[in-house]
Amino acid sequence: MEKKLVQLISQEEIAATVKQLAQELDRDYENRSPVLVGILKGSFIFLADLVRNMKTPISNIEFMRLSSYGSSTISSGQAEVIVSVAQKAVRGKDVVLIEDIVDTGITTDTALRHLKQYQPASLKLCSLLDKPARRQVQVTIDYLGLTVPERFVVGYGIDFASLYRQLPAIYALET
Ligand code: 5GP
Ligand code: MG
Repeated sequence: MEKKLVQLISQEEIAATVKQLAQELDRDYENRSPVLVGILKGSFIFLADLVRNMKTPISNIEFMRLSSYGSSTISSGQAEVIVSVAQKAVRGKDVVLIEDIVDTGITTDTALRHLKQYQPASLKLCSLLDKPARRQVQVTIDYLGLTVPERFVVGYGIDFASLYRQLPAIYALET
């Protein structure tokens, strides 16, 4: 069946949201030079825009990758860390995990637990989107952009079968 894209969040709204999040991070990390850890691949555009809106010097940008959406790991309540950061990149640092969307919460929960083992000085979560309707694991989103309804979203880095990441706005993908 043909898929239809319905715009949920415009480019302008995304830009305003990212700017707001950057200001909140600037306020809280003023003298601390945080390390930002992006979860690949979905957060790459958000992270790129976020850092360009931040004035606080960022001491490092790292990435990690977890098992993809819809895999059998979801039912086990745990995602798998496929690519980690180096322990020395995190230990003793003020770390902010950057995610595109928190859905069941399993990916971010796994990523946060994993990073905690590396003993950061502090660890916070920043997510562009929150889809609370399907939450299975409680996660605290310290810096949240926008809440979205229970729809499958794409665009602005977020994909369906590797497609649509390049779209500048965010859409619901409907059949
Ligand atoms: P979780 O369910 O573990 O919170 O989210 C897992 C991952 O699924 C997220 O990192 C995100 O990349 C992806 N995801 C969650 N909701 C959606 C959605 O509506 N659309 C797309 N394309 N990916 C999603
Ligand atoms: Mg993701």
